[in-house]
Amino acid sequence: MPAFATLLRQVRTCTLCAAELPHGPRPVLKLHPSARILIAGQAPGRKVHQTGVPFDDPSGDRLRTWLDITSETFYDPTQIAILPMGFCYPGTGKSGDLPPRPECAPAWRPELLTHLKQVQLTLVIGQYALAYHLPNRQAAVTEAVQDWKASWPHTVPLPHPSPRNNRWLKRHPWFEEQLLPALRGRVAEVLGQPG
Ligand code: SF4
Repeated sequence: MPAFATLLRQVRTCTLCAAELPHGPRPVLKLHPSARILIAGQAPGRKVHQTGVPFDDPSGDRLRTWLDITSETFYDPTQIAILPMGFCYPGTGKSGDLPPRPECAPAWRPELLTHLKQVQLTLVIGQYALAYHLPNRQAAVTEAVQDWKASWPHTVPLPHPSPRNNRWLKRHPWFEEQLLPALRGRVAEVLGQPG
């Protein structure tokens, strides 16, 4: 197994599915072996592809509000690892961004995850991360999030924080009333523990 720094360099220069990426490869991920929280998201969108900064968009603003953490904490890889299911922007289709490239997770995820031994809380965002991190939960995202206590306190399924999900949030008030307060407490607990 390559050392962490070597592995990260390999990921950052990956061109495995370059032919399928309309905007070319630009892997966007952030992690360090000390991280205690893992955010398993979907794939970068157009803006993140341009900036190279994960969740540097309205979805990220909402996610930070959900977790009640500052940008400084959010972008500190020794505390929080951000590892989407596809590292490069897959382009946009008729109904929004395309799914994460299927080559990415099998190529890189298992090895990267072996370096994240300190993770105590994994936030699973969206259906692709759900299928990977909670494969026993054969449920749609809504059902999986509704059943959040099943994998508490180590793994928490979340809807995507995108503004496109505003209607979902309105239809499911229990998410903000019950899940979020518990999640904020858990995040504070995990980040507050000595490293
Ligand atoms: S999406 Fe993943 S597999 Fe494809 S080029 Fe980017 S890093 Fe490599």
